[in-house]
Amino acid sequence: MKVTENKIYNPEAECMDRAALRELQDRRLVETVNRVYNNVPLYRERMQAAGVKPEDIKGVDDLHLLPFTNKTDLRDEFPFGLLAAPKSEIVRIQGSSGTTGKPIVAGYTRNDVDVWTEMVARSLTAAGAGKDDIIQVTYGYGLFTGGLGAHQGASQVGAMVIPMSSGNTQRQLMMMHDLGATMLCCTPSYAIYLGESLKELGYDPKEFRLKSGCFGAEPWTEEMRKKLEGLFDINAYNIYGLTEIGGPGVAFECCAKNGMHINEDHVIAEIVDPETGEPLPYGESGELVFTTITKTGMPMIRYRTHDICVLDDSPCPCGRTHLRMGRITGRTDDMLIIRGVNVFPGQIESVLLRIPGVAPHYQLIVDRVNSTDRLEVQVELTDEMFSDTVADVEKLQHTITEQIKSVVGIAAKVKLVPPKAIPRSEGKSKRIIDNRDLTK
Ligand code: ADP
Ligand code: ZN
Repeated sequence: MKVTENKIYNPEAECMDRAALRELQDRRLVETVNRVYNNVPLYRERMQAAGVKPEDIKGVDDLHLLPFTNKTDLRDEFPFGLLAAPKSEIVRIQGSSGTTGKPIVAGYTRNDVDVWTEMVARSLTAAGAGKDDIIQVTYGYGLFTGGLGAHQGASQVGAMVIPMSSGNTQRQLMMMHDLGATMLCCTPSYAIYLGESLKELGYDPKEFRLKSGCFGAEPWTEEMRKKLEGLFDINAYNIYGLTEIGGPGVAFECCAKNGMHINEDHVIAEIVDPETGEPLPYGESGELVFTTITKTGMPMIRYRTHDICVLDDSPCPCGRTHLRMGRITGRTDDMLIIRGVNVFPGQIESVLLRIPGVAPHYQLIVDRVNSTDRLEVQVELTDEMFSDTVADVEKLQHTITEQIKSVVGIAAKVKLVPPKAIPRSEGKSKRIIDNRDLTK
């Protein structure tokens, strides 16, 4: 494997003495709490209900006094209710899927875009990127933060960017080959698909100049890392983020490949017990909670990610002092990530409820075929529809497929099944059958 140099984009911030970092976080947290208290009704009301005044928060030690926020808050306050800055200061909207049909959106000020860009620049630099690199961005461009995030970060480090966006495997490989891309940014599952297609299309891996990849937006494993590193002869690095907090780059892997450094000068991370919300010590597995401390457009206080992982404060050989988060090992809700897209059963349900002829009984079956995720939605027909003509049923199937595509953003195979075909359960119905093996 080609060796990547241990380069640090912003050593002053990334290798800051922890005591100084704590002081910086204290100061920025106080500023942020005042900002949201004064500008966002939801925060003011929640803090008042909890009996917390802005002056009670003097620093990170007081963080636990503040109420949590959740994805549902973004949905309820859609689209601009959580903005802490005037709309005229917002220069970008990014979005992600919400728990039902409606997306959630986040507004970024110029400052927020700059912060995010630096976070990605740090991530790419840690993966070896510099101005001599040619970076192929294969994350989707659009509301999804992956494409534009990687693009901005790659431009920031001065690399040559190939803004491919997602899809079109043959063209991806042709450009990667002909332009001599040295770094690839995409989801790990698509990277594996590209790697496997490479040989099938008759390319010799030796003709590629790729030396590293920044892969994220969905959970992956050490097994997948080995596979990716072998397929392309590269170093594969993990990158993590979420739209609400600032897109990809919230945390990223360094050359030690042992956990992702969290950009702690911009966000404060906590691990809490998913049931009780009580903070847990470093090293214990629990739900990751973020508080942004430099965002001005839509700062988030104690935002519950629903991602499960551990935090590690042991020193890292790379020299960075920021905490590391382990791989995401699960979710505390029923969100699925399919081909990098967040999918909630509630979104599918909201589509089905609007369509006459189908019963509100459905099951989502997820498989991984040739490294690509496949989603099948099994839906029960109503008794009346079941006795209708084949043409009518086919039309219905087409309608459901189209609506899922437009609401959820991914193509799913829709299978209509006879009334009562989907097993009923006594308690919580089993909506998801996930046959993917995420341990490999
Ligand atoms: P992104 O563009 O980073 O996927 P979204 O807001 O659409 O942002 O989705 C965020 C969610 O994606 C996270 O809460 C997490 O569940 C998942 N995710 C992002 N990056 C990773 C990663 N490297 N490993 C595991 N899960 C990830
Ligand atoms: Zn490190």
